[in-house]
Amino acid sequence: MLKEKFLEGKTAVITGGGTGLGRALAHRLGEFGANLVLAGRRVDVLNEAAEALRSQGNSVATVATDVRDPEQVDHMVGRTLEEFKRIDILVNNAAGNFVCPAEELSVNGWMSVINIVLNGSFFCSRAAGKVMIQNGGGHIINILASYAWASEPGVVHSASAKAGVLAMTRTLAVEWARHNIRVNGVCPGAIRTEGTDRNLWGDAKTRERMIERIPMKRFGTPDEPANTVLFLLSEYAAYITGEVITVDGGGWIGRGTYEMVDINDFG
Ligand code: NAP
Repeated sequence: MLKEKFLEGKTAVITGGGTGLGRALAHRLGEFGANLVLAGRRVDVLNEAAEALRSQGNSVATVATDVRDPEQVDHMVGRTLEEFKRIDILVNNAAGNFVCPAEELSVNGWMSVINIVLNGSFFCSRAAGKVMIQNGGGHIINILASYAWASEPGVVHSASAKAGVLAMTRTLAVEWARHNIRVNGVCPGAIRTEGTDRNLWGDAKTRERMIERIPMKRFGTPDEPANTVLFLLSEYAAYITGEVITVDGGGWIGRGTYEMVDINDFG
């Protein structure tokens, strides 16, 4: 059982915190007492999310940030320190994605996703990590996807970027363990958000096909990966670093080479 308000006095920066999973995570971290900093490019989206959080009694700041730009990332960290004096938690959640066959993917499309996901996660980790090193510790949580180690035809750009972030997770976990910084990943499975409906699974047929392939036969809810982040931030996970927890209803494991899910399928 997590201690009530165990994040009181801590400051969490969430990139992409104005929408989808990032927004749900902000609500969960806020419930447990964290001060929140939401970063993303669209100011109106950030402000709307911040207002909803404030109406529930949370302390929230927003910083318009494009994580692809290291100067804007440094500014985000500076604004966080002005507002809350410290950074204890960074969640690299911001991402962009769209479906495109690899042979048709433009250089711009490739660069755009690599820049947001891989470069952005590093710029944010480096800037926040320096502050955490000075503070004597902290947490970095990277939001991954199982195609970082499995495969996902149609999103080679995102898969390659997330694979880089997975390697970054393990490498920084080792490099910064001596600074008392734990670096872990959470890997959500299929979770419907505005972003996924817009860019990935807009049509009902695709969603039905996906559910058919997930052993637990449902999409996840945004709170499910958020709860896993809470666990990783808690004392129950004090000896866990460089690890990735997958929250996907068994989705990535799939149904085996022969798909004999039901015992009656064995002839
Ligand atoms: P989403 O709603 O589309 O959120 C993406 C967020 O990233 C937005 O708030 C967006 O805000 C921000 N963002 C994009 N480009 C940015 C940039 N250059 N600088 C700063 N912020 C930027 O997506 P989601 O579904 O919640 O996904 C959240 C995370 O979970 C992602 O890392 C995604 O890969 C991962 N994930 C999701 C699923 C799923 O099923 N939903 C599955 C596996 C992994 P602005 O556009 O305003 O900048």
